[in-house]
Amino acid sequence: MHPDDRGLIFVVPRFGVDHDPADGRRVVCTNFDGEGFPACYDGHEGTDFMLRGGFTTMDRGSARVVAAAGGEVIRVEDGFYDRCHGDVQSVDVTCDGHPLGANRVHLRHANGWVTQYLHLKQGSVTVAVGDVVRCGDALGRVGSSGYSSAPHLHFAVEDDTGGVVDPFAGEVTGPVSLWGLQRDADGHPGAACDPAWTRLP
Ligand SMILES: [Zn+2]
Repeated sequence: MHPDDRGLIFVVPRFGVDHDPADGRRVVCTNFDGEGFPACYDGHEGTDFMLRGGFTTMDRGSARVVAAAGGEVIRVEDGFYDRCHGDVQSVDVTCDGHPLGANRVHLRHANGWVTQYLHLKQGSVTVAVGDVVRCGDALGRVGSSGYSSAPHLHFAVEDDTGGVVDPFAGEVTGPVSLWGLQRDADGHPGAACDPAWTRLP
C-alpha cells in the first residue's frame, strides 16, 4: 500500500493465507502464526487487506496499491464492475448482474515468482503488460471487483511452479519473512522497499 494510504487499511481483520489443509467450513483455517478466523479463512491463497470505510472510502479515491517488489507486468485486467458485495440472502458475493471479473495486476519477478493484486477499482490500473515496475510503484487502487464482498486488496504470491507462498513469517511458516519489515509501528508490513528483494531464495 502507498505509504500515505496505510491508515486507510485495517490491521484487524486481515485475512491471510490458510495453512490448514482441511477443507472445512469457511471459518476453519490456520494463518502463518497459527491463528484462526478472522486471521484467515478456509482455502484462502493470499492476504486480504480491507479498506476502512468500505465503498465510501473507495468513492473518495481509495487507497493506492503499489508493487511489493520490482518486476515485469505480465497480466492486467481493468474495466470490470467494482461494487461487488456480500449478499445477505444468498450469503454469497453478488456483482449486481455484472460479470464477476476481478480488475488485477500480476507481476513476474527476477526469480520467476509472481505477485498478484486483485479486486482493483474500475479504471484505476496505471500499468500495462510489458511495463517494468520498481518496488513501490503505483499499480492501481483498492476496489471490490470480482469475487469480493467489500473493498479490499487480495495480495497473493506464487513461486515459479505456481505454488502458494505466504510472505509472513510465523509459527507455521517459519522464521523468514519476505517483507522488508513484517510489522511496522502501525501494524502493517513496512512500506520501505528492499530494492534487491534479497530475502528471496
Ligand atoms: Zn483474498
